[in-house]
Amino acid sequence: MYDAIVVGAGHNGLVAAGYLARAGWKVLVLERRHLVGGACVTEEVFPGYRVSTAAYLVSLLQERVVRDLELRRFGYEVLPKDPAYFAPYLNGRYLFMYADQRRTCEALARFSRRDAERYPTYERFVERMARFVEPMLLEAPPNLPPRRPADFAALSRLGWRLLRLAPAQLGISPACLLPPRVRSWMTGSNRTS
Ligand SMILES: Cc1cc2nc3c(=O)[nH]c(=O)nc-3n(C[C@H](O)[C@H](O)[C@H](O)COP(=O)(O)OP(=O)(O)OC[C@H]3O[C@@H](n4cnc5c(N)ncnc54)[C@H](O)[C@@H]3O)c2cc1C
Repeated sequence: MYDAIVVGAGHNGLVAAGYLARAGWKVLVLERRHLVGGACVTEEVFPGYRVSTAAYLVSLLQERVVRDLELRRFGYEVLPKDPAYFAPYLNGRYLFMYADQRRTCEALARFSRRDAERYPTYERFVERMARFVEPMLLEAPPNLPPRRPADFAALSRLGWRLLRLAPAQLGISPACLLPPRVRSWMTGSNRTS
């Protein structure tokens, strides 16, 4: 007898099963493939070559999950990758992207001087967006439409964070950062007259 059965031993199934087991539940994880990990696995796709079948870098796995499930104790280790990206082209040209932004810009400039000039601005934009979005990944979204004081408080916190992001400086409207459902609720476009 099990307290919970998790179907699929991908990243999310394993994390859910780990937390349930940690809470004392007896958990069964069912996986249809011959290995666990879902889209986050390394496989021998061609004889003699082990590659990431899909996900190739740790970006969505939350540090809190790593800590809570004591993954390091079980061998989890993050290795920095530099160069971070390599794109070969059939005509023999190639693009490398590095941890060092200056080197990346030099590489980009071989394709487009304009892109190379704008790349630092783009990276700053992505970093600011990530700082805004990342804390939300571990939070329950606010209830919509808000009914209780706690719902209004949660929405206000979200709005305040958006304002601190100063989207106007990034050349976009603050509303662009909201999920479509929140946006339509705020603009009233989902209300029937
Ligand atoms: C091409 C690609 C590249 C990506 N790159 C990155 C990256 O670089 N970094 C990153 O952080 N994220 C990346 N992602 C996203 C990341 O892979 C997913 O967020 C993550 O794998 C989601 O985990 P999951 O457990 O929800 O689903 P999955 O990883 O898809 O796992 C689902 C599991 O369920 C199993 N399953 C399904 N149905 C059944 C069934 N009926 N019975 C038994 N088992 C079943 C499947 O075999 C699979 O093992 C990438 C995704 C893709 C597709």
